[in-house]
Amino acid sequence: MGHWALVINSSPSSPPSPSSPPSPSSPPFPTPTPFFMDLKSLIRDIPDFPKPGILFRDITTLLRDPEGLRYTIDFLTQKCNEAGITPDYVIGIESRGFIFGSPLAYKLGAGFIPIRKKGKLPAAVHSIEYQLEYGTDCLEVHQDALHQGSRVLIVDDLIATGGTASATAKLVQKIGCEIVGFGFIIELRDLQGRTHLPDVPIISLIEY
Ligand code: AMP
Repeated sequence: MGHWALVINSSPSSPPSPSSPPSPSSPPFPTPTPFFMDLKSLIRDIPDFPKPGILFRDITTLLRDPEGLRYTIDFLTQKCNEAGITPDYVIGIESRGFIFGSPLAYKLGAGFIPIRKKGKLPAAVHSIEYQLEYGTDCLEVHQDALHQGSRVLIVDDLIATGGTASATAKLVQKIGCEIVGFGFIIELRDLQGRTHLPDVPIISLIEY
């Protein structure tokens, strides 16, 4: 506890002043969004991670590319707009769903809500247990984050078997939310994860 307080209080930087907005003469992006980008070329394949036989699709190489990152978020936003998805909240699945879900929520004018692994959220939670290949896992959301009738878009970096996204869907449906769509950067088509999801628009940008 003392360690955290020390780290936070010793930060030399001060928050940006509300009276000094970014200058319009210095745009954050020097180039316009490209018309087309081959996003697959920015994904790195790592064989046998995290265990033998798994081909891990690594999105960190996409994230570190300024144009690739911007194109990904803009493309996801465009696809949501085209599908008529207008959520109250974007739900990001821990942890890579947070990376894409937050900027997407910003672009869609929605709030962002994290779905986290067991024991990470500080206030009262709703939970759901779901089956893994070996054993079970548990996902949680704050009880006061969502309400009956909230329109939600569920986002993760990748859909494989669909177990994680399906458990998230069941959790928010238990609360009485309306799922208006799913968004993924990568879809592993052969595993047919989308067949385990409710019948709503399912967006993915890259397929393997
Ligand atoms: P699943 O529940 O089988 O759809 O798995 C989806 C979750 O596992 C996502 O949060 C992914 O980040 C992760 N995941 C599963 N397979 C892979 C893979 N081949 N490469 C990278 N991440 C994966």
